[in-house]
Amino acid sequence: MLLSDVKLLQCPLCYEHFKIGAIWKKHGQQIVFGSLVCNCDEFPIIEGILYLFKPLNRQILDYLRQKDFTAAVLLGLTQRRKFHPEQIWIKRSKPLLSRFLSTDFLQKIGKVQCARLLSLFLPKHLVKYYFTRDEWQDALAIHFPLAALLVRPQRQRKILWLDVGSGIVNNFTEMQQAYPKLKIISLDSNFSNLFLSKAFYSGENVIRICADAHFLRLVRPHSLDVITLIDTLQSLQAPVPVLQQASSPELLKNNGVLFVSGLQEHLFVEREWGIFPAPRKMVRNAFQGKKQPIFFDNEELSKQIQAGEIRFQEVRLRKTDPVFSYGFIWANSWRVPAKLSTQFIPPDVRAKATRRWEDAHKMWQNRAY
Ligand SMILES: [Zn+2]
Repeated sequence: MLLSDVKLLQCPLCYEHFKIGAIWKKHGQQIVFGSLVCNCDEFPIIEGILYLFKPLNRQILDYLRQKDFTAAVLLGLTQRRKFHPEQIWIKRSKPLLSRFLSTDFLQKIGKVQCARLLSLFLPKHLVKYYFTRDEWQDALAIHFPLAALLVRPQRQRKILWLDVGSGIVNNFTEMQQAYPKLKIISLDSNFSNLFLSKAFYSGENVIRICADAHFLRLVRPHSLDVITLIDTLQSLQAPVPVLQQASSPELLKNNGVLFVSGLQEHLFVEREWGIFPAPRKMVRNAFQGKKQPIFFDNEELSKQIQAGEIRFQEVRLRKTDPVFSYGFIWANSWRVPAKLSTQFIPPDVRAKATRRWEDAHKMWQNRAY
C-alpha cells in the first residue's frame, strides 16, 4: 500500500480517517508490513494488503511487532487453527515457509502449483473457479463502466474505482493501460485471493483490502467514481444493505456509477458454493424511493464486450423474466450511452474469454427459489 493512499481511506466500522500506526517494512513509498489506526482499533498491513477483520487483526499485529512476517502472512492466508503459527511443525518449517510465501517464489512455481497449494485451504471447485476467471466471458463485464469512462470528454481526470469481491484473476493491468489515471480499490474477504492476485495480476495502482463487503464505507464520503460487483452480489448474505450503501452519496460521487453483473441462475451449483437466491424483485426493492437500476442480460452484454462493441438497447431486460439471471447499472445523474466500443481490451484477453454459464438445472431447492 502506498503511503499516499492512506489519506483516501477510512475505517468502515467507525468511519474515522485512518492514520499510519507503525511501519515495520517499507519498499520505496510502499508499506509492506505496517498498521493503520482509527478510533475503534489498529489493523495490520500484511504484504501491502490492509486486513480489517476482527479479532484476528490483533493476533497478526502481535506477530508483526515481533517482526515475524511469515507468521503474519500465514495467519492471513489460512485463518485456521490447523495451520496456526504456534504449532511445532509450522515453527520448524518457518525458514522454508518464509521463502515459500514470497511473491518471487510464487511467480517462479507458477499459477498451476499455486492453485494446488491453495486447494489445501479452500474447496477445490472454488480454487478452479478463481484461477480460470479469465476464461469466462462474464468476467469481461468489468470493462463496461470503463468503456463508458473512455468516451467522456474529461477522460484524463483521476478515477477512484471500488471493485467488490475481486478474486484472484482480474483485468486491472489492462484497465489501467487503457485509462492510466485509474486507481482501483480491490476488496475481497479472502486474504489468499488478494495475496495471489498481487503476485500474478498486479496492476500498477491498486489498493488491496481484505474486509467484509457488508461494510463498504472504506473511503472518504463522495469520493468514488465507480463501484463494481462482478459475480459477487449473490454470494453476499445481505445484498440489500450492500446495495443501499453502494448507491448512497456517502460513497459515490454525484456522477458516479454502480455496476453489478454476474447474477446467473446458480441453481446448478452445489450448496456449499455459498450462492443465495437474489431475485430481481429484491434489487428493485433495495432501490425503493430512488431511481431504479437498468437491468440487462449478462450473457448478451458479455458477448458484445467480447465482440468489441456494446449496443446497450439490445441487451436491456424489459420483461420480468428471467427472475434470477441478470445484471444492472445504477447512476444518479448519468445516462448509459447507446453504443460503446470495447476495442481497448487487448484482443488476446477477449479471445480467451469464451466460457459461458450453462443452463441451470436444479441441484438444490428452497422456498425462495
Ligand atoms: Zn475503526
